Amino acid sequence: MNPKAFGPIPPEFRDLSALPWVNEATPVYVYDFAIVASRIARLRAALPAGVAVHYAIKANPLPALLAAVAPLVDGLDVASAGEMGKALDVMAAGAISFAGPGKRDAEIELAIRAGVTLNVESEGEGQRALAIGEQLGMRPRLAVRVNPDFELRGSGMKMGGRASPFGVEAAQVAGLVKRLIIGGAEWRGLHIFAGSQSLDTLAVIETQAATVALAARIAEEARRAPPLVNLGGGFGIPYFPGDMPLDIEAIGAALGEELHKLDTNYAIELGRWLVGEAGVYLARVIDRKVSQGETFLIVDGGLNHHLAATGNFGTVVRRNYPVAVAHRMQEPAEETVTIVGPLCTPLDRLADRVALPKAEVGDVIAIFASGAYGASASPAAFLGHPPARELLIGRDHA
Ligand SMILES: *Cc1c(COP(=O)(O)O)cnc(C)c1O
Repeated sequence: MNPKAFGPIPPEFRDLSALPWVNEATPVYVYDFAIVASRIARLRAALPAGVAVHYAIKANPLPALLAAVAPLVDGLDVASAGEMGKALDVMAAGAISFAGPGKRDAEIELAIRAGVTLNVESEGEGQRALAIGEQLGMRPRLAVRVNPDFELRGSGMKMGGRASPFGVEAAQVAGLVKRLIIGGAEWRGLHIFAGSQSLDTLAVIETQAATVALAARIAEEARRAPPLVNLGGGFGIPYFPGDMPLDIEAIGAALGEELHKLDTNYAIELGRWLVGEAGVYLARVIDRKVSQGETFLIVDGGLNHHLAATGNFGTVVRRNYPVAVAHRMQEPAEETVTIVGPLCTPLDRLADRVALPKAEVGDVIAIFASGAYGASASPAAFLGHPPARELLIGRDHA
């Protein structure tokens, strides 16, 4: 049986056996903050001066990680009252924005009381925010999220250029901005997010240019410059065989050529690109078995902890995440194995027919590129196994 390829192992993790945390009790996610800090530094060096960097916390909302990231970024973007609470623990309200459709009145009230910016997703939500602000006797801080009339090419999740629950149609934004200002809001600007997980450098460059142009058009229609334009992000990371990283320096340089088209403050908001490669999921081999010539390694966690690695979160075709036998990374591949979790469902497949050194019961399997959309994006309650622990390391070295 021919093995199937798996994705590229990030260079920082080419030899796990030397790292003490590899002996932690499993199942566990380990996040190396030194890698997050180095991504943020590289991004800042690549971006034009003055472009603010926001962290979209739904990628990884672990409180210890948020506390470590907050001092290194200019803002946090949240998408629920629960996330807003975590963000307010580590960041001033004026640097937090709250997006997402279906904000309940209680969430809007909490945001207005705290001084968090609401990224308004519809006319109706804008009117509710004005009414709640009036009841409270407080001036709501409102930005308008735009449903762009284009989408990010090569993006795993498309968020623009089509009918969408997110944002206000581009042609209707200027009118809404005027109504919000007349209604008493402090207008905080525009939020334009066109897609996620793109590895196409040219597509990201084109999308950022189109985003600046759209913001300029809306500013002209509204006859007001937005205080801030949040350009979105959508930068992808390599997960699968053949994936190549984005050229962040080229993206930053190209963005520098566009910003003069609208004189304002800019931000980009990233989740996955900042934290995704910093995380490793570790699970231990409980059993080995052979069925009809195929060898299975059964490990102590699976889709209940790491839905994305099983191909059931945001991917159309199941492909293999980067994977290794943690203590045997320097040994040659000896056998082809399928790695499954302990859940009683055939969906629970962490790696499909990969060639690895021989792993015995008790050995640790590592799944890389696991720092974003891992633990918090998995159905932990499904089948009643214990949750994975989450461990932040590398704070002292950042
Ligand atoms: C999810 C989300 C992000 C983060 O996307 P990544 O692909 O993780 O960078 C940013 N902005 C908005 C509005 C989002 O919904």
